Amino acid sequence: MTSPVATRESIVIVGGGLAGLAAAIALAPRGHRITLLESRNRLGGRASSFHDATTGQLLDACQHVSMGCCTNLAHFSQTIGVDRFLQPQPVLWFMTPDRRISRFAADPVPAPFHLSRALLAAHYLTFTDKLRLVRGMLALMRLSADADEPLLPWLKRHGQNDRTITRFWGLVLTSALNETVERVGTKYARKVFLDGFLRHRKAFEVQVPTVPLGRLYGEELQGWLSQHGVTVRLGQGVRQVEFADGRAIGVQFRTGETLPADRVILAVPFDRVVEMIPEAMRSQLPSMARVPELTPSPITSVHLWYDRAVMDYPHLVLIDCLGQWIFDRGEDAAGGHYVQVVVSASRELRNQGHAEVERAITAEIQRLLPKASDAKVLRSRVITEMTATFSAVPGVDALRAPQVTAIPSLVLAGDWTLTGWPATMEGAVRSGYRAAEVICAARGESAQFEQPDLR
Ligand SMILES: Cc1cc2nc3c(=O)[nH]c(=O)nc-3n(C[C@H](O)[C@H](O)[C@H](O)COP(=O)(O)OP(=O)(O)OC[C@H]3O[C@@H](n4cnc5c(N)ncnc54)[C@H](O)[C@@H]3O)c2cc1C
Repeated sequence: MTSPVATRESIVIVGGGLAGLAAAIALAPRGHRITLLESRNRLGGRASSFHDATTGQLLDACQHVSMGCCTNLAHFSQTIGVDRFLQPQPVLWFMTPDRRISRFAADPVPAPFHLSRALLAAHYLTFTDKLRLVRGMLALMRLSADADEPLLPWLKRHGQNDRTITRFWGLVLTSALNETVERVGTKYARKVFLDGFLRHRKAFEVQVPTVPLGRLYGEELQGWLSQHGVTVRLGQGVRQVEFADGRAIGVQFRTGETLPADRVILAVPFDRVVEMIPEAMRSQLPSMARVPELTPSPITSVHLWYDRAVMDYPHLVLIDCLGQWIFDRGEDAAGGHYVQVVVSASRELRNQGHAEVERAITAEIQRLLPKASDAKVLRSRVITEMTATFSAVPGVDALRAPQVTAIPSLVLAGDWTLTGWPATMEGAVRSGYRAAEVICAARGESAQFEQPDLR
C-alpha cells in the first residue's frame, strides 16, 4: 500500500500574484510540497503596495476594488482571514461636473428590479435615456453569452444615444473592464451588466479594502501560507520552465540555478509567459500560440495628500470628467488627508507628463469639491501601469489559453487565462483555483475549488 507521504508531490508555482496565491491556498491543505516563487520582494503582484520613499507609508500602486459578484475573491479572502478588511459600499455616489450627486442603492425587491428606482432617479440621464437603457439592457440579456461583436455599433443598433453611451455604458464599462466602450466586445460587457447588476441584489456592491493591499496580501497571507507548509521564496526570478521527455520537470532561475518539481504552475502575466517556455517546446503548446496577440490597457492613479479633509463621501464616481473614481483614503499618520483618483483605460494620458496629469486632476477636484478649493496639496504622486490588464476586445477569448496544457505537469494560471471573466482579481483567483483543479484531476483526485456565482 502506498503511504500518503509517498504520493506527495512537489509543486512549484511561479508568480505570487492572486492567481499563484489562489492555487497555493487551494492545494496546500492537500499535503503537497508547494514552493511559491516570486521575482519581486512582495506578494500580491499587480494588487500590491510599496513603501513611499518620502514617508515610509505603505501605498497601493492603485486602489483595487471588487464587487459582490466576485465570489471566488470573497472565498479567497475568507480562507486567509482578510475579509474583515473589506468594506462593502451599499451606496454608490455619482457626481457630474455641476456638482450634482445621485445616490445609487438597491431597494428591497428581487433582482433584477432592485436598482430600478436608483436608475430612475439618476439626475444625469433624461427619462427617455432611461427608457433607452431598459431597451438596451433587455437586448443584452437576450444576447448569447458567447457572442462577442464590437459593442459600440451594437449599442447604436439597439437604440442607444451619445448620452447613454458615455454616461452609462461607457461609465460602467471603462471602470469594470479597464477599456473604452469603443474597443470592448459584447461578451464581457454583457457579463458586467448581468453578473454585476442584474442577477443578484448584492452583486453590484463595491468592496473597498480598509488597509493597503500590502497588508491584505502581506504578513497575514504569508502567515497562513507558512502555517500550511507552503514555502514562499521572494526575490526569485525564474528564467524558464525546464522540460525533459516532453514533461515539465522544474524551473531554472535567472541565476542559472534550477529547482526540480513534479509539477509547475506558471502564474505570470501574459506578457511574460511565452518567454518562459523554451523555444523548442513552444510548438507543443498550441493553446498558447495566440497569447502574444493580447494587448495591454493602462491605468493611471493620482495620489493626493491635502492639508484638510476635502471629501464628504467615501468615494465618488465621476461623470464627464477626466478622473473616473475618487476614493477618500482618510487621514494618514503624517496628518495628510489622502485622496486617490483613478483613470482607467488611460491611453489618452500617455503623452502627458505626470506633472500635467496631476495639475489637470487637482484642478478638476477643486472644481468638484468645495472643500478642496482652499485646501493645499501637501504631496502628490502619479502612477501609470501601462500593462494593467489585457484589453477585452471583441473575440479576446480566442487569444487566451486554458489552464490545462498539452504538456503533462505544466499548468497555467493568471487573469489572462480562460476564466470566463475579464482581467480582474476575481478572474485571477478563479484561474488559480482552476489550475489547482487541473493538478488534482491529473492525480486522479476529484476537487472543486472554483466557487459558484451568487445565487
Ligand atoms: C493599476 C491597476 C488597477 C487595478 N484595479 C483593479 C480593481 O480595482 N479590481 C480588480 O478586480 N482588478 C484590478 N486590477 C487587475 C488585477 O490587479 C489583476 O487582474 C490581478 O491582480 C492579476 O493577478 P495575477 O496573479 O493574474 O497576475 P499578477 O498580479 O501580475 O501576478 C503575477 C506575478 O508573477 C510575478 N512574476 C512575473 N515574472 C516572474 C518571473 N520570471 N519569476 C517569478 N515571478 C514572476 C510578478 O512579479 C507577479 O507578482 C488592477 C490592475 C492594475 C495594474
